[in-house]
Amino acid sequence: MPRPSKLLPGLLLLALAVFAPCSGALAESVTFFPGTQYALEVHFLRGEKPGPTVMVQGGIQGDEAAGFLTAQLLSRAKVAKGTVIVVPRANPPSIHERKRAINVDLNRRFDQDYNEFYEDRLARVIRFLVSQSQALIHLHEGSGFYDTVRRSDLRGPQRYGQSVIVDSADPRRAPQLERAVRQVLAKVNEGVTPKDWAFQLFNMDTFNDRSRYLEQRKSLTYYALSRVGIPALAVEVSKNIPDLSWKVTQQLKVTALFLRQFGIELEPPRLGPEDLKAYPSRELRVLVNGSPLTAQTRTIRLDPGKPLDVRFENLPEGAAMSPVTAVFASDRPGFNLAKGPRLPLAPFQGIDVRADGVVLARAALEWKGAWPAAEAAGKPRFVCWLGGELRVVPADGELDAVQGDQLVLEGVWGSRRDEVLNLKGYVSRVGKNDGQDAGQEIILDPNSFIPKFVKHLENGDLLYEVVRETPKEPQAHFFLRVKPRVVTELTVRDQQGRAITLEWRPGKALALPPGRYVLEELRGNGPAGMVQFFAGRRPVGVGQAFIVAPSDEIVLRQATTFAEIGKMPVNSVVSEAGRALGY
Ligand SMILES: [Zn+2]
Repeated sequence: MPRPSKLLPGLLLLALAVFAPCSGALAESVTFFPGTQYALEVHFLRGEKPGPTVMVQGGIQGDEAAGFLTAQLLSRAKVAKGTVIVVPRANPPSIHERKRAINVDLNRRFDQDYNEFYEDRLARVIRFLVSQSQALIHLHEGSGFYDTVRRSDLRGPQRYGQSVIVDSADPRRAPQLERAVRQVLAKVNEGVTPKDWAFQLFNMDTFNDRSRYLEQRKSLTYYALSRVGIPALAVEVSKNIPDLSWKVTQQLKVTALFLRQFGIELEPPRLGPEDLKAYPSRELRVLVNGSPLTAQTRTIRLDPGKPLDVRFENLPEGAAMSPVTAVFASDRPGFNLAKGPRLPLAPFQGIDVRADGVVLARAALEWKGAWPAAEAAGKPRFVCWLGGELRVVPADGELDAVQGDQLVLEGVWGSRRDEVLNLKGYVSRVGKNDGQDAGQEIILDPNSFIPKFVKHLENGDLLYEVVRETPKEPQAHFFLRVKPRVVTELTVRDQQGRAITLEWRPGKALALPPGRYVLEELRGNGPAGMVQFFAGRRPVGVGQAFIVAPSDEIVLRQATTFAEIGKMPVNSVVSEAGRALGY
């Protein structure tokens, strides 16, 4: 009998150390753009066995419910091998309104790195996630039924429903992609009745200049295949099939089969009869300034001139479909009061409560108390929110901000009118070019402005102008002075609990040896929470633990735009803590 090898315990230790960071967190959720109207939730499902990473995304267009429900269900899958990145609802604002697009179609923003609208910021994170993946499955719900030849208005090559779309069937561009699709379709279509609801392979031939689908060159799947070089496909169910539960079941089946084709071992969740019955949840309760708002509520009483506090109670944590929730005021549709501030300076009619865009409750408002009074004489005072903090700026005054900050223009103190406040050079909503920028989330980034309205000052600051354009009111204005974002220091705590403060000097090496740390603080200018910290490719929140591997770099990004502020490679000299981890 051979003697047990002395090497074995050592090897085992090393293997444990290498995989410990992964197997410790099997399922992890990360929120990008926290505190904004377009906060994006992403799930990382990591199997015990190493394997490829495959991304599955739904909800890029808010009127395609099957796709985001399928992705949501998939986030409950048990992954044994490989990693599945699930983005259930890629475009939450479009889901709140059940619209394909708010400003621009997010699935037409992947041909370049735009930074004009919130959709472009979401596209940045989506590209970042795709760049970590070895395959992409994109879930949609299309109109009609795809077919290679036109058979009726609802069935033909101009329709997308019940198809699996690829941009190329050329094996040199996408090895095995067509074969994988044919194998999956053969399996899934066995169980599809009626037969004319079977899924078909839809090759858009997007690389070919004579393709009739050239606009697909701006799509995510084309980006993934042409730029990242990974197999990518879209699974479309049909908007013309009324049974949502059937569609989600089928889409989930197709997705699981593709995941296996791409090397993932998983146990998909079962879609129980209860899952969609309760959707999108009748149980949601909202508190408006402490008063409950339910489907039975008819009116809500509010205090003029006091900030609104809107929050969801009993959010169905872990509930089957975890809808995205919103509360809209009647005068500012699209602005989610559960995620953004409001100080009523003028009366409005009512509010509605939504879950995945479905209105669950609606209440009229009763205003109780006196409205704030304007000064008898003197300059009007502008009310706004900067990074969630209330600011009052007199006419001709200046408000200091930092690039990437979040601004909401509220109104004019004491006016009681629907004020029109125009942030010059900024378009709050495409197609609604009335100059009104009040009540919308504005991210202070020069890329979102028409350049001629931005004044560049000698010291590097930018100056923007806000003009009161309310009809029949005297014109008045104030300025926003926007400084570049500066980060000076960061503090982390090592495994012994020692605080380590490091100077932030982009391009230089960071004296942070490989090991495990907790992020304590980031110091710089502007409101806190506007910088997102990444160790390697993992976003890390303040108070969260992270691991630094030998060749990692620390990257800081604007929390609202994902724009890089700077990066520093870590010092690869291994610390005590790093040695304990096996580095
Ligand atoms: Zn779609």
